[in-house]
Amino acid sequence: MKISNILKNKKTLSFEVFPPKKDNESDLNKLFDTIIKLKEFNPDFISVTYGAGGNNTKNTVEIASFLKNVANIEPLAHLTGGPSSYEDVDNICKSLHDKNIENILVLRGDKPINMDIPYCKYFNHATELAKYIKKNNDFTLAGACYPEGHPESVSLYQDLLYMKLKQDEGCEFYITQVFYDNEYYYRLIREARKIGITVPILPGIMPLTTLSQVERTMKLTGAAIPLSLRLMLERYKDDKDTIREIGINYAVSQILDLLANDVDGIHIYIMNKYENAKEIIDRIGNIIKKEMR
Ligand code: FAD
Repeated sequence: MKISNILKNKKTLSFEVFPPKKDNESDLNKLFDTIIKLKEFNPDFISVTYGAGGNNTKNTVEIASFLKNVANIEPLAHLTGGPSSYEDVDNICKSLHDKNIENILVLRGDKPINMDIPYCKYFNHATELAKYIKKNNDFTLAGACYPEGHPESVSLYQDLLYMKLKQDEGCEFYITQVFYDNEYYYRLIREARKIGITVPILPGIMPLTTLSQVERTMKLTGAAIPLSLRLMLERYKDDKDTIREIGINYAVSQILDLLANDVDGIHIYIMNKYENAKEIIDRIGNIIKKEMR
């Protein structure tokens, strides 16, 4: 089913997973087990990254196919244009189509740190990938967006204009980069609506459950971590369980605030950990269920 059609009728709960770093069967089977367990939370869709953070690009189609054809959960397959040729994109689109997968998140991707050749070959931006895919296929396309502005943009406004271009090239909804201050998300929505972006913009929430994740997240995404959250995480830096408790509760408070503000859905970056989803749903599953109508 096209996720754009689901979003026309209800708010969505969704999760993001990534292909295991090591390309072996047992890690992949572990992820499949996690996916089956996630079914109990009734997600409207699950997105599967493609080569994120220099991760392997293999298995995105296989995981998306498992979601669709075994777990019966709607997949959103990510696809990065940067390292892809036209032929690569055609082949992936064909594989997705053959497996009845109807939704793609179009991305540029990021150059791996140790790569010394140009990263983008045919598609310099997600907009170009969207245009290319739309020309020959019938997928629902989604795009990424950045509540604090994309790190390479000279201004939030410039980034917003390119965000609008994604809609013009056929993206029917967006998922945001992680953020830890909801005000950035509300500002993005206000400014996006002013320039004619009309499609749903799903907020992406990632609970910080370890201290190392804090630095990594700031480095990878540029997301600002509010001082109060940083202070609490620092204070309990030697106490893993309390760090986790703080991170999960912070994510829960963000989600409650977002739901109160009538967002189009909630997308949770669970880092392939069933527990991250479960601990959030254990606390506010009933509210989420009532809100996702
Ligand atoms: P673009 O939309 O191309 O934007 C990149 C920069 O170029 C921005 O500054 C933008 O303002 C500017 N820009 C955009 N369009 C144009 C244009 N037409 N002309 C000139 N400038 C333009 N990475 C992965 O490798 N794999 C993943 O699976 C993955 N999943 C992600 C999921 C989400 C929800 C998000 C938010 C990010 C994800 N990323 C992933 C990271 C993403 O690849 C990086 O953030 C990357 O730096 C930008 O990708 P983009 O698609 O937003 O790029």
